[in-house]
Parts: sequence; C-alpha cells; structure tokens
Amino acid sequence: MNTTVDAMIPDLAAAITYLFTAYQKPLDDVILLVYEHQLSDVPFPLVQAAVLEAPKRLAKPFVPSIREVRDLCDVLRCERLAASPFEPCALCRDSHPGWDVTTDPWGVQRLVRCECWHAYRHLLRTAGLLPVVTRVLPEGDA
Ligand SMILES: [Zn+2]
Repeated sequence: MNTTVDAMIPDLAAAITYLFTAYQKPLDDVILLVYEHQLSDVPFPLVQAAVLEAPKRLAKPFVPSIREVRDLCDVLRCERLAASPFEPCALCRDSHPGWDVTTDPWGVQRLVRCECWHAYRHLLRTAGLLPVVTRVLPEGDA
C-alpha cells in the first residue's frame, strides 16, 4: 500500500477525477456516475494504479473508455501477479509446497492448505490480484 497514492486518490470518484484531469478533459456528474458504476466491481488498488498508468500507456488525447480502463486494470493485475510468486515456508517447502499434512479424528492423514498459502492468498486478495468475474459490457446493436 502506497500512502502517497492513497492520499492523492483515496476513492473511486477521486480516481476517475484524476483520470479526466490527467487528460485535461471536463468531467460532469453523469459521466462520473457511469464510470463509477462500471468500475465498481474492479478491485480499487487496480483502478488506482490504472489511472496513474493510463497517460503513460494509453495514447492521448482521448480519455480512455471504461473498457480501456478495465483492460488496463487486467494487464496491471497480470503483471503484479507475475511479480508476486508464491514462496512456500520452511515447514512445507520440501514436502508439499503450500500444503500441510494433518490427521483427522479418525486417524486419516489429509492435506490442508499451509498457513503460508493462506497468507499469500490474503496478500493477493488485499492487493486486488485475484481474478474477478468481469462484468460483460453491452455491445452495440450491430
Ligand atoms: Zn507453508
């Protein structure tokens, strides 16, 4: 978590405002509502990163469409996920990486997820890096 970015872009409305300001385009309440609604299911850390990256990665002078912002969020998610590989702990590394062996009340040995795996998944979830079911935007009448 980057506190400078969080202070500059604390919420979704601020992120969209930042995007339009970066492209030096006016933003009215209706457009803000549409962008907010259509980006509301995308993890906020990715939207935050996308509005910062958009001017560098997407051509000006046109403000990126909602679909372009969503696509950039997915690119950033994949890049960050690739840069965050799972590293098993010392307890499970040499036997079953990410798994721990437990014995249930009937004496049967079972594999359960190791704490390091749960910590890794929590980290990914917090950073918005787990895949989300994407909302399908309506196509035109064509
Ligand atoms: Zn482990």
